[in-house]
Amino acid sequence: MSNNTTINCPACQSPIAIEPKLLMSGFKFQCANVKCNASVSISTESRQVAKSAYGKFEQLKREL
Ligand SMILES: [Zn+2]
Repeated sequence: MSNNTTINCPACQSPIAIEPKLLMSGFKFQCANVKCNASVSISTESRQVAKSAYGKFEQLKREL
């Protein structure tokens, strides 16, 4: 069972497969769109926001 989830690229809105634990630890995920080439990472300040978003995601999974 995969632990991966996707978020939308802030630049091109393509889905980027991310691993929440890695993202939370500051890992950068590269956009899969070769024309875009943006990378997604979160700063220390936004980690709390990401954590609550992830909490909501976990809640959603339980409801499904
Ligand atoms: Zn992109």
